Amino acid sequence: GSSQSALNFGAGPAKLPREVLTEVQKEIISYQNSGMSLMEMSHRSKEYSQINQSAQNNVRDLLNVPDNYKIMFIQGGGLGAFAAVAMNFMNRTGTADYAVTGTWSAKAAQEAEKYGTVNLVFPKAKKPGKIPDQSTWTLNPEASYFYYCDNETVDGVEFPYIPETHGVPIVADMSSNIMTRKFDVSKFGCIFGGAQKNIGPAGVVVVIVREDLLGNAMKICPTVFNFTQVHKENSVLNTPATFSVYVMEKVLKWIKESGGVENMEKQSQRKSDCLYGAITDSNTFYSCPIDENCRSRINIPFRVGGPQGNEELEELFLEEAEKRFMYQLKGHRSVGGIRASLYNAISYEDVALLVKFMKEFQAQHQK
Ligand code: PLP
Repeated sequence: GSSQSALNFGAGPAKLPREVLTEVQKEIISYQNSGMSLMEMSHRSKEYSQINQSAQNNVRDLLNVPDNYKIMFIQGGGLGAFAAVAMNFMNRTGTADYAVTGTWSAKAAQEAEKYGTVNLVFPKAKKPGKIPDQSTWTLNPEASYFYYCDNETVDGVEFPYIPETHGVPIVADMSSNIMTRKFDVSKFGCIFGGAQKNIGPAGVVVVIVREDLLGNAMKICPTVFNFTQVHKENSVLNTPATFSVYVMEKVLKWIKESGGVENMEKQSQRKSDCLYGAITDSNTFYSCPIDENCRSRINIPFRVGGPQGNEELEELFLEEAEKRFMYQLKGHRSVGGIRASLYNAISYEDVALLVKFMKEFQAQHQK
């Protein structure tokens, strides 16, 4: 029951900027002196229309999205987007290429198999932690699109480059690293990301689509997942998650005011360098199983008490961390160990406190 803000290293839904939450709190009962909460307003009101437009504009500005790309908001989470991607784009040739580098791209491939033929461009690894060299991939030139997950939230694997697909449109899941680094949108056919990590609360997914890829959805595609129809109705085809979009619009503004994506990238590098540095300095008391060339700047999994991890010590680590207000550091149930997620709302100072604790814990518990 503390009002002190927790050091929240959760993977998502994740920490939001305090400035944004304070603003939401001020407006929650009466938005712009209307006597109504934004939550209580029509999605066709002028207030929501303005928020909807501003959120789209902010995404466009922050990522330098070219004019021939449409920005829209859908519901159904990342998992919904996995199906939507297949139903919107796989019609062209009935096949798609998938690079499976961890949990989420594996789930996306599995979802896409319901709608067509999925080709894995390299075999799924038993243990994630590497991205096979591009020269070894078997890309299908007839693929409707090439799909990958830019940052694997569970496994801590992040692409250090944009793959070369020789003209096949690239679809990327950027749920956990959108707005954490600059990239060239024009290299992509479609980018999507659930808001609940770097840019807002759960309930909304941002989708960016190159316009020439629209208009080819499968007949079976539910209307709410049909990008062409959602875009045509300017993301108010049906009742959107208005409150989520409202908060997201504020987070995007906060990013702008905090130096934009350029500064988020700088901070992200600084924060992750600090944590990986501590892992390396620990001389295997802490260890990260991911190849150095594809370690995520955002989700950092590590083991405590040696490379295999000592589960008892990891339990203790989590307990001791909570005594210092550091929460949600438990690794995903499928991989165990510890995971620290360093999204945009996490400051360098937050990470420095975690590292300080890690050093103290090591000094106390290393045999
Ligand atoms: N893709 C990535 C990279 C994720 O981290 C998640 C996370 O939860 C998902 C997809 C699935 O999103 P959702 O839980 O919104 O369906």
